[in-house]
Amino acid sequence: MTQTTQFKGRCMCGAVSFEGESPKEPVRTCHCKQCRRWASGPVDAYSVPVDTLNFTAGEDKVKYFVSSEYARRGFCADCGSNLFWHGDRHPEFKHRVAIAVGALERPTGLVAGNHIFCESKGDYYEIEGNRPKFAHED
Ligand SMILES: [Zn+2]
Ligand SMILES: [Zn+2]
Repeated sequence: MTQTTQFKGRCMCGAVSFEGESPKEPVRTCHCKQCRRWASGPVDAYSVPVDTLNFTAGEDKVKYFVSSEYARRGFCADCGSNLFWHGDRHPEFKHRVAIAVGALERPTGLVAGNHIFCESKGDYYEIEGNRPKFAHED
């Protein structure tokens, strides 16, 4: 039986809120160039199937920035909080959406997993600890 977890989150101002239940996945920490510029550092993201993400408020407040040829990044139009990464035009990724874990209410029940895009990380810190590290994707 797949373990599931309940998630519940919102942007900083509260205009956008969402919840759902999804199969439990480790949190991935992305060190890519885009996340650095987007969030001033690595982004912790939790991937869920698109159809498990239910908006409880402000779905129309989510603004999407097309960030690559296959992906978009969603943020709150009012407060600017980073909320989602969605590979909406990618054949494999389009069925899942990565939620910025910082938006989730605690306790999240989640655990930290892989570091990805380590090759693009900021040059002012080291990635320490035993979590698996990948130069690009895992
Ligand atoms: Zn907001
Ligand atoms: Zn990234």
